[in-house]
Amino acid sequence: MTAAPENWTASVRHVQDEAAGAVALTVVMVTDMPVLRSLAEAGDPQACQIVQAVQQSLVGIVRAPRGQRRECAACARPLKGGKFNFAIAIPHRDDPSAGLALAICTRCATTRAAVQEKAMAALAPIWRNLRPVAVTHPAGGHA
Ligand SMILES: [Zn+2]
Repeated sequence: MTAAPENWTASVRHVQDEAAGAVALTVVMVTDMPVLRSLAEAGDPQACQIVQAVQQSLVGIVRAPRGQRRECAACARPLKGGKFNFAIAIPHRDDPSAGLALAICTRCATTRAAVQEKAMAALAPIWRNLRPVAVTHPAGGHA
C-alpha cells in the first residue's frame, strides 16, 4: 500500500472525492508519535488513522531509492534524517477510508502553525475546494 510519487496526485483525488472538499487537517509533529501510537493501540479511531497515514508515508520516505527521494511538500528538497513533520488530511465524514500525509521539512516549518500553513499552501493548487474543518490534536497543549 505504498503510494509511489507518481501516485501522489491520485491519492489526493481519492481523499478529495471522499471528502467532497471538506477535510480535517491534523498537524503531527514527530515528537507526537509516541502518544499517538499508544492512543491507537488503545483503539482511538482518529489516532489509528493518523498513525497509519504517517507510517505509510514514513515507509515511502525510508524505502525510496537514492536519486528518487521523497520531497518536502513545501520546498521540494529531498527528505532525510528524520528532519520533517507531517500534516494529515483526512476526509471529514464518519467513516473515511483514506488519509493523506504530507511531509514538511524542518527548514520550512518547525511549529504546528507553520506546518499547517505550509501544508495548506501545498494542497491549495491541486485541491481547490480545500476547507479544513478542524485542526485537532489528541495531545494538544503539549506543544
Ligand atoms: Zn521544506
